[in-house]
Amino acid sequence: MRVMFWGAARTVTGSKHLLLGRTGSLLLDCGLFQGRRAESEARNRALPFAALSVDALVLSHAHIDHSGAIPLLVKSGFEGPIHATAATADLCRAMLLDAAHIQAKDAEWLNRHEKNRGRGGRNHGRPIEPLYDVADVERALAMFEPHGYEEAFEPIPGVEASFSDAGHILGSAAVRISWKDGGAARSLVFSGDQGRPHRPIIRDPAPLPRADYLIIEGTYGGHTHPGEDSLLEALERVVRETIARGGRIVVPAFAVGRTQEVVHALDRLIASGRIPELPIFIDSPLAANVQEIVQRHPEVYDAETEAALRRGHDPLGMRRVTMVRDAEQSKQLNDRKGTFVTISASGMAEAGRVLHHLKHTVEDPKHTVVIVGYQAEGTLGRRLVKGVPEVRILGELYTVRARIEVLNGFSAHADHPALVAQAASCGAARGTAIVHADLERAEALRAGLPDASRVRIPVEGDAWDLR
Ligand SMILES: [Zn+2]
Ligand SMILES: [Zn+2]
Repeated sequence: MRVMFWGAARTVTGSKHLLLGRTGSLLLDCGLFQGRRAESEARNRALPFAALSVDALVLSHAHIDHSGAIPLLVKSGFEGPIHATAATADLCRAMLLDAAHIQAKDAEWLNRHEKNRGRGGRNHGRPIEPLYDVADVERALAMFEPHGYEEAFEPIPGVEASFSDAGHILGSAAVRISWKDGGAARSLVFSGDQGRPHRPIIRDPAPLPRADYLIIEGTYGGHTHPGEDSLLEALERVVRETIARGGRIVVPAFAVGRTQEVVHALDRLIASGRIPELPIFIDSPLAANVQEIVQRHPEVYDAETEAALRRGHDPLGMRRVTMVRDAEQSKQLNDRKGTFVTISASGMAEAGRVLHHLKHTVEDPKHTVVIVGYQAEGTLGRRLVKGVPEVRILGELYTVRARIEVLNGFSAHADHPALVAQAASCGAARGTAIVHADLERAEALRAGLPDASRVRIPVEGDAWDLR
């Protein structure tokens, strides 16, 4: 068996690892690169392998940096199947249709505006085409084969696979793969994105199963997340200061996971009287759809949340939220006075409705932009975190005067100690590869693992022979 690393290698997006075995080839994840628009555009358009040569896809979870290139794979000739947990399959319907929609809207907007300013367009005068459309997404969705956690399936002949709960978002999974090499049994675990233990709402990650080889994410290698209390304190301070200035709060957040956690934290602060009641808007048709999907999967909640739901309580604080579905309502938020919170996708502020909210927010020092998730290099979110004086949003330059607050505690990713514990759980005596991390983070994680000489940090296109 050989692994080819085709994405999320020394970077956190574009997750794609191709396993080449004697009986076929198996792709782990098929995510989009996210980052500087022009650069990620080019990387996303060209799949680095022949789609037709892929015999099966195993998907760890529904986040776009893991699933977003699936419709492109299908458009390029892949015929399925796509193995995922039932909740991931459900989420992908909402996420991928939304991705197709965002791409169509962005392409339309860019084509219109670039022309208006007479620059001939960034695409050398050619109109920008979306990567795929709704028909491609529908074809991909028909290829999904849902599985439960710990249920064995055979994605390619002679290769067995099963999912375990990664505790990262609804439906997220690590994958264990086993096969025979000559007479010897061999196995590999792919961590997917690992969640954090002891977080509210969804279940804790299951310990990674034992295997000979491990491919582990390292997003927060070397970093220890602050505890729940200091996170709530920081959020309380941010809200109070923004109220004092009479500004609004904009939170770019993935529709899945983070959005629910931010609402949950605001709910706790309001319920305990630490901040006044304030309007909360979730501006994302996707988040509204996701909310319905989440309600269909009670199996993902931790015991506490499940019990509260059964008692008819609202442990997620959803009663405080106004869901914004249509674009008109979304625009009205820009004229709204006073302090309120708008949570809107995308999480790295590189696409979607949040761009329009940021346009109307970043230039005014009254307002606050709260960053709650990891921001990949090259994204608008990353530039805001870095504190650049000017940002380009949908083709226009804006001066950043709003307060930018980074609250890392909301991360849905395991921190360094949790990753080290998961690597120990797996064992992986024959070797480990660290993916889904900037180089610095990957090196920090490697330094924390025993036998660092057996730990590789692949670059894109690297091959790893498992024998
Ligand atoms: Zn993820
Ligand atoms: Zn990811």
